[in-house]
Amino acid sequence: MYDFHIHSDFSMDCKYLMEEMVLEAINKNMKSICFTDHIDFDLTEDGIDFVFRPKDYFKKVKQVKYKYMQKIEILAGVEIGMQPHLKKRYDELISNNPFDFVIMSIHSINRKDIYTDNFTHNKKPIDALIKYYEYLYQCLEIFDNYDVVGHLDYIDRYFEDFSSLPDFKEYKSYIEKILKLIIEKGKGIEINTAGMKYGLGYYHPKTEILNLYKDLGGEIITIGSDAHNPEFIGYKYKEVEKLLCEIGFKYIYLYKGRKKFPIHIG
Ligand SMILES: [Zn+2]
Ligand SMILES: [Zn+2]
Repeated sequence: MYDFHIHSDFSMDCKYLMEEMVLEAINKNMKSICFTDHIDFDLTEDGIDFVFRPKDYFKKVKQVKYKYMQKIEILAGVEIGMQPHLKKRYDELISNNPFDFVIMSIHSINRKDIYTDNFTHNKKPIDALIKYYEYLYQCLEIFDNYDVVGHLDYIDRYFEDFSSLPDFKEYKSYIEKILKLIIEKGKGIEINTAGMKYGLGYYHPKTEILNLYKDLGGEIITIGSDAHNPEFIGYKYKEVEKLLCEIGFKYIYLYKGRKKFPIHIG
């Protein structure tokens, strides 16, 4: 089992030490894990940066990596919260640090945190979705310094009432455009199992999007739990692998030193 989306206390929203996460991953017999702690520049209108110090981060990863190297492979990634005006800052961050893997997520839209600023409230559900996907598309057009797009339909999580979520057909054309661009640029997506935790009944992204990605020729996909707690490391891993096989994927991917490695599944 592999988990390529794990947080530790280097993320402001996680209180568990790297070592605690690693011990649980070993306990669960994971082969390889990648820490992807948050760097979210300019997350809110107050200009809050949600960051860690790369120097301390790499030092800590190195420490646990060598301590447990007989038992598990540990990699150092990052999850960045992209907004178009931050392109230069993220390019610098990523070029100047030896990350193994970079997840590009959208957590904030025009300096409004989707979660804390209640982005979906007071909007027609379809308008909120379209705004989010257009914003993601803009980011994809201008930024290439990442490996996979994180939790592509993250926005779904923040609807007060999941039953108000529009039918996939209503915004499929936006997703298609996004997936085509990801594929064309040689990037990938992750399947983030946290969606199940939030009661959505699907992973991020939902099965319709995974099917579409496959149909459009998409192949690069990583699996991550987005664990902020040791308990969720490897969450639903077997089920996800099975789902990917059913859809027709033959490989998942791991990243080391920003290079991808296919792992045969099924
Ligand atoms: Zn995220
Ligand atoms: Zn995350």
